[in-house]
Amino acid sequence: MASSVSTCIRCGQRIVGAKHVYGGKAYCEACYKALMDELAKTESQKADLYKYICNLFGKQECPEVVVYGVDKLLASGYKISGIKATVWWWYEIEGHSPDNINFIIKVVTEQYKNAREYVIKQKEINAANDQIDLHNVPTQHITINSKKNSRTWKPNYRMEDL
Ligand SMILES: [Zn+2]
Repeated sequence: MASSVSTCIRCGQRIVGAKHVYGGKAYCEACYKALMDELAKTESQKADLYKYICNLFGKQECPEVVVYGVDKLLASGYKISGIKATVWWWYEIEGHSPDNINFIIKVVTEQYKNAREYVIKQKEINAANDQIDLHNVPTQHITINSKKNSRTWKPNYRMEDL
């Protein structure tokens, strides 16, 4: 059934006032603005990724095949941060030499899971280290004056009330 009332594809609310169309879909003012912000953020993250890859391979700019490949990865659910982490892990941590920039999409597809495991493990190690640090905090020994504390004081509220 066709409806003359436009509904925002994003928030599902009826569009009051200015209607914005992006990619053939209608958005309300607020959602359109949010979408534009997200797209701008994605673009700058992508630019950052290309710059990182180019630096790694000593190139002035990323070849079409890489740009196209990254878009394809993003379309299939990969995250920009994840792609960057995979490239970083494979070349900078694992030490593979950046010979052929055209292999980068293949590397990301094949190594994404391994890179993810590495990052998760590092986070666990860091968390464990944090815990060790906490345990290393010198314990302050408090001497309790037993006479002064001999009278037991009981709070007049129940713990459940807190
Ligand atoms: Zn909306």
